[in-house]
Amino acid sequence: MIELRTPAEIEAMRPAGAFVASVLERLKGEIAVGVNLLELDALAHDMIREAGAESCYIDYHPSFGAMPFGKVLCTSVNDAVLHGLPFDYVIQDGDLVSVDFAASVDGWVADSALSVVAGTAKDADLRLIATTERALEAGIAEAVAGNKTGDISAAIGAVCQAAGYSVNLDFGGHGVGRTMHGDPHVANNGRAGRGVKLRPGLVIAIEPWLLATTDELYTDEDGWTLRSADGSRGAHSEHTVAITEDGPIILTQRAP
Ligand code: MG
Repeated sequence: MIELRTPAEIEAMRPAGAFVASVLERLKGEIAVGVNLLELDALAHDMIREAGAESCYIDYHPSFGAMPFGKVLCTSVNDAVLHGLPFDYVIQDGDLVSVDFAASVDGWVADSALSVVAGTAKDADLRLIATTERALEAGIAEAVAGNKTGDISAAIGAVCQAAGYSVNLDFGGHGVGRTMHGDPHVANNGRAGRGVKLRPGLVIAIEPWLLATTDELYTDEDGWTLRSADGSRGAHSEHTVAITEDGPIILTQRAP
């Protein structure tokens, strides 16, 4: 079911968006060679406690999950791209690290993700990350009342395909509100003019992600982490966006 938010409700979602943005800003600065993924999770957990926020992940136990997630952050490194379960791993020089974070504040959820390289970056990794960021911008630009979800999908897909990547359609964007995942689904490729009409009050997470040389995934033995079928690296960029009469509002916008 698609739920629309009043302008007052969208205002009430701003603290969640600002909080999620602040955690990702902090994490972006902390991701470095020698840092353990569990330290990043602990830092995010501390920030949740200090803010009186609630994790969307820690008790998350969907039908496809082997057990409750148990952590507050997704950390996906190198060939991992989505749902990375933090584990005892020390970040190495050149690692491509994606962090995805969702939390609720005052009962409203925000969801956002970014990718960075720790230490010495390979051009191919920077290009992969930059493509997901440009695809996210292109998708947000289509998050306009009167458009359809397919316009967002087509814009994302066009950027990814023009850069030479193939797009997986199994995991994509979604409605965001009182819970982390709602309707509509927003695929990372599709046909313009198709899908669900975008109305003022619709709040969605838009989240292009890519693998360098495949669009196939497999699930790690941990039951959560999704890795590329061919070992190539992945990147992920996500914002929570409100569609309004005055255009899209990026609720999880980070400081420049
Ligand atoms: Mg997310």
